[in-house]
Amino acid sequence: MKIAVMGTGYVGLVTGACLADLDNEVYCVDKDKEKVQALSRGHIPIYEAGLEVLVRRGLDSLRLKFTADAPKAIRSSEIIFITVGTPSTEEGEADMSAVREVAEEIASSMDGYKVIVNKSTVPVGSTKLVEKIIQERVEGRFEFDVVSNPEFLREGTAVQDFLHPDRIVIGSDSQRAIGILTELYQPIHAPLVITDPSSAEMIKYASNAFLATKVSFINAIANICEAVGADVREVALGMGYDKRIGFEFLKSGPGFGGSCFPKDCRALIDIASKAGYHFYLLEGVMEVNREQMKLMVEKARRHLGSLRGKKIAVWGLTFKANTDDIRESPAIAIVSMLREEGAVLKVYDPIAMDKVRDVFSDITYAADPYQAVEGMELLMLLTDWDDFKWVDFKRVKELMDHPAIIDGRNCLDPLTLRRIGFDYEGVGR
Ligand code: NAD
Repeated sequence: MKIAVMGTGYVGLVTGACLADLDNEVYCVDKDKEKVQALSRGHIPIYEAGLEVLVRRGLDSLRLKFTADAPKAIRSSEIIFITVGTPSTEEGEADMSAVREVAEEIASSMDGYKVIVNKSTVPVGSTKLVEKIIQERVEGRFEFDVVSNPEFLREGTAVQDFLHPDRIVIGSDSQRAIGILTELYQPIHAPLVITDPSSAEMIKYASNAFLATKVSFINAIANICEAVGADVREVALGMGYDKRIGFEFLKSGPGFGGSCFPKDCRALIDIASKAGYHFYLLEGVMEVNREQMKLMVEKARRHLGSLRGKKIAVWGLTFKANTDDIRESPAIAIVSMLREEGAVLKVYDPIAMDKVRDVFSDITYAADPYQAVEGMELLMLLTDWDDFKWVDFKRVKELMDHPAIIDGRNCLDPLTLRRIGFDYEGVGR
């Protein structure tokens, strides 16, 4: 099938590369010309396992092309995906300006029937909004359908998630569009949830808000565990065996972050409020999350007293392991708070150092985990990259001025570390 993907970010690039690999002819469009040029040469701007191979295979077979020429891509395609960003506005609602812009671009280049598929996470009613924008410009000259098809991929496992999703949600009132998308997704074996556009749009927000709720819930339990002398990891294990609860998203840590959970929670609170419902529960989830990040700084204070002039090493800066994404990363928020309290920071991340350099210019960047801890008084582990689990902690102890660790992800073994001589603190254990 002939496809255009409008917006070649995390979702658009993965969508385009995977659909090309499933034998479709795909144009990935982006208005960032430098990005388009780099991608056309096979240079991937993001870190995502398995993606580079797919992109190169797509380029070699000519099934995958990158362009800034939106009209050409739109005219060459029957299916047009919208995968642009929908960041939070100051008020917390989803910023729809890129979606509107793309809808206008599609309308001005229409030359026949198209299925416009919205994969961006957008408020309920956005399918109708895109329909209206296009209809106002097309004025009945061409037929088209707009479909909501939210994306559930996770950064770090995006290719795998796209090709092996738990479900595919298609929200449309048009049998023609549903038929085309069902055929497109036929090689991907997953349950199809075919529903109306509003429910499809809500499924995405409700899913992310629910997962965020699980994270804040276990973080709250972790904090109670600390106070009463229980171990949250044991508690989560015991809870997770209950099939109604499950093990996923029951890992306590420094709070959730990333480009989706915080902004989607804020957007859902806003959607609810505009619809006349005060979403106290989700506001609480966000509040617990903010407090959890502050708690990491409080833990540092408990170890060091005032943080002014104290030397702290930080391992891990991305919002989770296996991605280079630092958008709303708890580690970045915590580094920022430590910095404000006057701590002297040396940081290390296996992938995201260059991105973080753009955020903080006055901290020290280490070349590896060992360099990061040299002469430091406290080590804070904030992203659970596997690399950190295999570090030689005897060497780390020798390099540090004072051997203390705050394991913000509970991914190290306290017994081993204490045996080596570390002052170890996890989260809720
Ligand atoms: P992103 O910021 O990585 O990418 C968006 C891209 O769109 C950028 O490359 C930008 O240059 C491009 N763009 C903006 N306006 C454009 C225009 N008019 N024409 C062409 N290109 C344009 O965003 P993302 O993380 O891929 O997220 C996209 C959407 O998918 C968001 O709504 C997000 O909530 C949703 N989503 C993201 C994830 C994720 O893990 N990142 C997962 C599921 C859903």
